[in-house]
Amino acid sequence: MRITNETKQGLIRLTLDETILQYTIEAEGIRWSGDLNVPSTFEDVDGCHLFTDLQVEHRSVENGVGSGIRSAFRREATPLFETFVWIEQASGAVRFEWIPLTECGIKNVCWPEPFDFVSDRSDWYTLIPNGQGLLVPNDWPEPLTSLPFDGMFLTHGCYMPWFGQVKEEAGYIAIAETPWNGRLKVDHAAPGATSAAVIWDASLGSMDYRRILTFHFRKECDYNELCRIYRTYVMEHGLAATLREKAARLPSVERLIGAAFVHTGIKTHVDPDSSFFDPQQSDKNNHLTTFAERQKELEIYEKLGVERLYVHLDGWAEPGYDNQHPDYLPACEEAGGWEGMRALSDSLHRQGYLFGIHDQYRDYYHKAPSYDADYAVQDPEGTYPQHARWAGGPQSYLCATQAPYYVRRNFQEILAHVPLDGAYLDVFTCNEGDECANPLHRMTRRECYEYRRQCFDWLIAHGILPSSEEVSDWSMRSLVFCHYAPYAFQLETPDAPRKGVPVPLFNLVYHDCVIIPWMMDRYPEQDHMLYALLNGGAPYVRRDPAYVGIDGAFAGEEISVEEAVERSKTVCRLHAQVALERMQEHHFLNGSYEQQETVFETMRVRVDLKAGTYEIFEV
Ligand SMILES: [Zn+2]
Repeated sequence: MRITNETKQGLIRLTLDETILQYTIEAEGIRWSGDLNVPSTFEDVDGCHLFTDLQVEHRSVENGVGSGIRSAFRREATPLFETFVWIEQASGAVRFEWIPLTECGIKNVCWPEPFDFVSDRSDWYTLIPNGQGLLVPNDWPEPLTSLPFDGMFLTHGCYMPWFGQVKEEAGYIAIAETPWNGRLKVDHAAPGATSAAVIWDASLGSMDYRRILTFHFRKECDYNELCRIYRTYVMEHGLAATLREKAARLPSVERLIGAAFVHTGIKTHVDPDSSFFDPQQSDKNNHLTTFAERQKELEIYEKLGVERLYVHLDGWAEPGYDNQHPDYLPACEEAGGWEGMRALSDSLHRQGYLFGIHDQYRDYYHKAPSYDADYAVQDPEGTYPQHARWAGGPQSYLCATQAPYYVRRNFQEILAHVPLDGAYLDVFTCNEGDECANPLHRMTRRECYEYRRQCFDWLIAHGILPSSEEVSDWSMRSLVFCHYAPYAFQLETPDAPRKGVPVPLFNLVYHDCVIIPWMMDRYPEQDHMLYALLNGGAPYVRRDPAYVGIDGAFAGEEISVEEAVERSKTVCRLHAQVALERMQEHHFLNGSYEQQETVFETMRVRVDLKAGTYEIFEV
C-alpha cells in the first residue's frame, strides 16, 4: 500500500509492505526503511508477540489534514489496537499513532520499528538527548546498548523526548508527543550500525491512551536544524517559557544572571539503616559545620571581588542532609538554629548575594514523624516501592499529589524565620515521574509532572527562584535554574570510555529558558571549565558534594580559592552576556571533535579541549 503526498516539505511517499509490516518513507527522494531485524512487538502476560502474528486489515485514509494508512489489529474476533501512519499536509510531518481499542493487558509496545541505519561512515550519526546531549557516529568504537533510567523520556536518561538520525546531509527528528510512559531504546552494539526506537509502557497497568511519535524529515540538515525543529515544536505547544518571560513573573531572575554558584552544607547524618552507613568511620556518618562558620568562610568571595553569587545550602535542618523529609524543620539547633540561619542569610544579602536551600518532596523517609504509607506511592500490585540507599535510611516515595501541601506547609514556616531567594527541590527533574495506584490519590505519570510543576509555581508565586537537580522537558515552563545539566560523561569517572561525542542538544533548544551551573573541575585530560564556556553557562566556584564519588563528584586537581574565583569570573562574564540569548549553533572545527564552537546571538565561543584553550568573540 502506498500513499504519496505533496507537502510543505516536498514530496513524501509512505509505503507499507503488508506481508512483513515494513514501512518505508521517501522524503524528497531520501529513503528511510524499517529495520526488519527489529520487528514491531508487544508484550503481555503471555510474553512478547510480533505484530505480524496478529490478523490485520489495512485501509488508506484521506482526511482534511492529510493522508495515511490505518491498520486494525485483532486476535481472533477481539480487536486489540489500530495504528494510523499519516502524512500531515501542512507540516510534512509523518505521524505514527498507536491506538488502543480493547483493554487486553498489554504491558508495552515497541512500535514503530527503527529505521535501517547501516554504514561505517562517521557522518552517519544518531542523536540522543541523554543528559546535555550525545551524538553517536556510526563508526564510534565504544558500544552503547542501554541508557540511564532505561532511556525513559523526561529523566536524566533523556531530558527531551526525541531522537534523531542524520546520514550525510539528510536526517530526521522523531518527537514523542506523548512522552510520559515512553522510553528510548538505542542499540549501537558495534561500529557500523545504530538503531533507535521508542518503547511505550503501560500507564498504571493499562495502555489506555494513544501514543504518537512524529517524524520530521529534512533533505539537508544537521543536529542544529533538528534542534531548531524541536524548539519550534516546544514553543508552538506552549511547553516552555524563556528566562525573560520568567523574569516578568519573578524579577530576581535577573540577579541570577552572571552569578557564580556555591554548593555547601551544614549537617551530615547517616542513619544506621542506610546503605551509606559506615560503622568503621563514625565521623563520616556524622559531622556538622555551624551557620556562623559557613558565614565566615563565604566572606572570602566578597573580598575576592565576586559580584554575584548564589549559595545553595544542604543539610540546614535538624535531621541533617537527606533525612526525614518531608518533615525537615526546624533549622539545625546545634548549628545555630533559625537565628544562625537568618544571620547567614542576612550576611549574604548584605554582600548582594542570593541564598537558597536544598529541599526534597519525593523521598519519603520512614523515620519522618508524619510518615504514613497511606500517602506513599503505591504500584498497581498494591506494594510500595522502597529502598534505603540515601543517608536517611529506609524510604518510600511521597505521592506527588501530596507534595504541594508539604511545600506550602514547610515554606510558610521557613519564610517566617529566614527570607529565601531560591529553593532546590531535589530529584524532581532527574528521576522519572511516579505513578500511584492508591485510589485515595491515584496519579498517572503525566499528572505527577503537573504536581511537581505546581511546587515550582508555588515558589515563584512567593518570590522564590525554583531549582531542581537537572533539567527536563516537562519543567521548562517554570524552572529557573538547576543543580547541573552536564554531558553524561561528566557523571562518570574521568577515565571511563566515552559512549559517543558530547553535543549540547539541550542548550540548542533551551539555552535562553533556564540557567545551568557547570562543574569547573580540572583533570589532567580535560578542563571542564571549557564546557561551561562553550555552553554559555554559570560556574560552580565551590561545590562540596553531598556524597563523594557519585553525581560527578571526583577528585580533580587542587584549585585554590583565588584561582577558582578567577576562573569563575571568566565564565560569569560570558554568562552575563549570553544568558538570555539562544544558542543558535554548535559546530566541530577542523574535522576534530576536540575543537568546538558555539554561536549565541551576540557571542561566539571556541574551545580546544585538547590544548585546553578558549577564545570568545563578539559576533
Ligand atoms: Zn497517590
